[in-house]
Amino acid sequence: MSGQRVYAAGMGVPTKNWAGNQRCIPAQVHQPRYADDVATIVRAAAAAGERVKVIGGGHSFTDAAMTDGHLLSLDSMNQILSVDGNDVTVQAGIRLRDLNDQLFERGLALPNLGDINVQSIAGATSTATHGTGIDFGNISTRIVGLEIVTGDGTIRRADEQHDPELLRVARVGLGALGILTEVTLRCVPAFNLRAVETIEPLADVLADFGNVMRSTDHVEFYMMPGARRCQVKRNTRTDAPAQPQSTMGYVRDKWIGENLAFGTVCRVGRRFPAMAPKVAKLIMSAASERDVTDRSDKVFCSPRHVHFVEMEYGIPFDAVPDAIGRIVDLTSRLPFPPMFPIEVRASQADDIPLSTANGRESGWIAVHQYIGAPYEAYFQGVEQIMNDYAGRPHWGKLHFQSRHTLAHRYPEWQTFIDWRNQLDPTGTFRNAYLDRVLGQP
Ligand SMILES: Cc1cc2nc3c(=O)[nH]c(=O)nc-3n(C[C@H](O)[C@H](O)[C@H](O)COP(=O)(O)OP(=O)(O)OC[C@H]3O[C@@H](n4cnc5c(N)ncnc54)[C@H](O)[C@@H]3O)c2cc1C
Repeated sequence: MSGQRVYAAGMGVPTKNWAGNQRCIPAQVHQPRYADDVATIVRAAAAAGERVKVIGGGHSFTDAAMTDGHLLSLDSMNQILSVDGNDVTVQAGIRLRDLNDQLFERGLALPNLGDINVQSIAGATSTATHGTGIDFGNISTRIVGLEIVTGDGTIRRADEQHDPELLRVARVGLGALGILTEVTLRCVPAFNLRAVETIEPLADVLADFGNVMRSTDHVEFYMMPGARRCQVKRNTRTDAPAQPQSTMGYVRDKWIGENLAFGTVCRVGRRFPAMAPKVAKLIMSAASERDVTDRSDKVFCSPRHVHFVEMEYGIPFDAVPDAIGRIVDLTSRLPFPPMFPIEVRASQADDIPLSTANGRESGWIAVHQYIGAPYEAYFQGVEQIMNDYAGRPHWGKLHFQSRHTLAHRYPEWQTFIDWRNQLDPTGTFRNAYLDRVLGQP
């Protein structure tokens, strides 16, 4: 049902992403409320030969959501529509933090999440956003139904019974197949996580990588190139009651430690490059140990107020220790050292054609740099290393690949391209990013 149509529309509103490294001036901004509104906008744009893009939370580091055409925000499409057992149908613009709260009120949760909760569900899943856990897939793998507006403004629905192949492919669509207006998520009963954070010798963690990453449900570690020790985070699913950190402890660790103090130290390193190596060491030595039990999403996700740029690659799980050794070697030769830790995670293989974990158990290596500090030589060097492992870049994070270098890394690349040609033959959803990574329909 469409109901009353209300657009908060504007022309030429400058738009930028969270990191501030991508900007655009869309010809027009729309804030539709219903799928019918989205279809009307797409139909009109397609007829005029104009382009349409959706921006979710604007948290991609790439220009995936940038356009000089029509930009849609689905912030007014943010409701839970129905709950059927563990299957929850939501409007595509709902932010993860609101979704998590509303799921919790219903005794439900998503089984795994990434580091933050401010993305829209459609933005997160369109780029295959993931957390960590070798027995857990990315968020897109939880989609069991969807509604999508295709390039000519047609509204199509797909679920496990009806059009299952469209469902399989469109769960990670990069915004290239159409505009998701609803998704149905297979949730799990709400659960708590016990989070244990320890400081361990990096050499031990790398030598026993497979066992460390399988030592409990959700394992990740943070390391600073050149440092001998790393911070290992183990999150274990538990029936034990929540024993969250005190408010003061949370403010100290998450707001002051991970954001305020961290940001100050990074600013010093950026301003005085000669001090950057010392700054990098200080950052790792400040990592502390923690043991708390809390609601799953509160453990998975943290506030991020220090702005940075990031590149993340998925490679075959077993290749991670070798790749890390090469990255450490690379960073010792960089003119400007990384001031952010490297993050290492893992996830299960899946069957989604353009999921970065398609067909292989994946190890994730994420490199970051403080915003405004030089990152190009670092990221390009890491990317060259990742190429040797047929690395797949996160679709929402910086990389320098093109369709020529990416196609052979995805066994079902052509399946996706065929669907794109069918759903958006005239390229209504094209933008510069899609032209680079997929080519034109
Ligand atoms: C601080 C920070 C932490 C992060 N942590 C993680 C992490 O832990 N794990 C991880 O995997 N990633 C992480 N990311 C990356 C982030 O999850 C992805 O880039 C995600 O796509 C951002 O979601 P968004 O809602 O902001 O989408 P946007 O960046 O706004 O859009 C992403 C893409 O989705 C498309 N899109 C949005 N809505 C729709 C729709 N309704 N229909 C079709 N296409 C749509 C856009 O057009 C664009 O192509 C992080 C990013 C930041 C900045």
